[in-house]
Amino acid sequence: MTIPATKTSPILSQICDAIHARRRLLITSHARPDGDSIGSQLALMYALEALGKDVRVVNADPAPAHYGDFPGVDRIEITRELIERTGRREDEALIVMESSDLKRTGVAGLEGRFTINIDHHQGNTSFGELNWLDESAAACGEMVYDLIVALGVPLTIEVATHVYLAILTDTGSFHYANITPKTFDICRDCTAAGVNPAAMARRVFDQNSIGKLKLIGALLAEMDLLDGGRLAVMYLNDEILNATGTTYNDTEGLINLPLTAREIGAVVFFKVGADGDIHVSMRSKYDVDVRAIAARHGGGGHRNAAGFKLRGPLSTVRDGVIEELTGAIALARQTKP
Ligand code: 5GP
Ligand code: MN
Repeated sequence: MTIPATKTSPILSQICDAIHARRRLLITSHARPDGDSIGSQLALMYALEALGKDVRVVNADPAPAHYGDFPGVDRIEITRELIERTGRREDEALIVMESSDLKRTGVAGLEGRFTINIDHHQGNTSFGELNWLDESAAACGEMVYDLIVALGVPLTIEVATHVYLAILTDTGSFHYANITPKTFDICRDCTAAGVNPAAMARRVFDQNSIGKLKLIGALLAEMDLLDGGRLAVMYLNDEILNATGTTYNDTEGLINLPLTAREIGAVVFFKVGADGDIHVSMRSKYDVDVRAIAARHGGGGHRNAAGFKLRGPLSTVRDGVIEELTGAIALARQTKP
């Protein structure tokens, strides 16, 4: 199936020209990739290969384990430092997705290439030669779909699978803000191209191990409820992982569980990694703005899903973040009783 060419925006045409003018494309995204970063990168990888390009996908961390059997995941090179190949730099472009700056990729040595920056988060630093930033996109995968259409590449089952994966995961299974008629138009095209939505939902969301179920139980048992039950606070440390036989990657998506309780308006998840670094993840409903809090701590994200990294002890930020979240919940209640 070939998608008909549509009217393209100036930045999209510039990106298409830049891609057509080069033979080698290097694709990357943020460290600890999620469904949108994996789906966006691999959809684009297959599309660029259909154009005869020489494509590499380089990530700092492996894809979450349950994406392991999606097409092309085994093609992703996992490294914290780019291994250069021989050849002329002018022949090569770097495509960075979902990253506010190059540092967020977690891959060293990417600098010095013609860089195409594609992102749907607020706070992107426009670090590329070409910067295509669209905060209205429900997933970066929506932007990649537009790019693939503009390049005139067919929506093969591999491409469609990854575009759908990106949208399914980044909308939280069609739960979050930014979903538009276009989101469904794209998913419709992916379904027409052979994607099976029921099978995709099972592959993405029904992949828990027994250990992960135990991890969910342990995290929820130790969860604190503050602000009259409106704020949930969860903690992850090595002891919980060891006791349940799970790894850090098993925590993906678990922050959303407390939001399924009617009264909870925001969740913060303090995750202490093996290296001692702490990742602070936040989720919220409706107008509760967690991005602003993340931004104040050097991170970013979206209004309802944001995070930041912390070096140093949890105690330095814990109470402050809880206070900021309580404030954000109060503010949202004022504006929307
Ligand atoms: P998560 O909590 O799942 O790690 O991330 C939620 C959202 O916040 C995602 O859109 C993610 O890209 C963003 N985010 C999380 N951590 C950081 C960070 O350290 N810096 C920036 N700029 N964004 C982050
Ligand atoms: Mn995304």
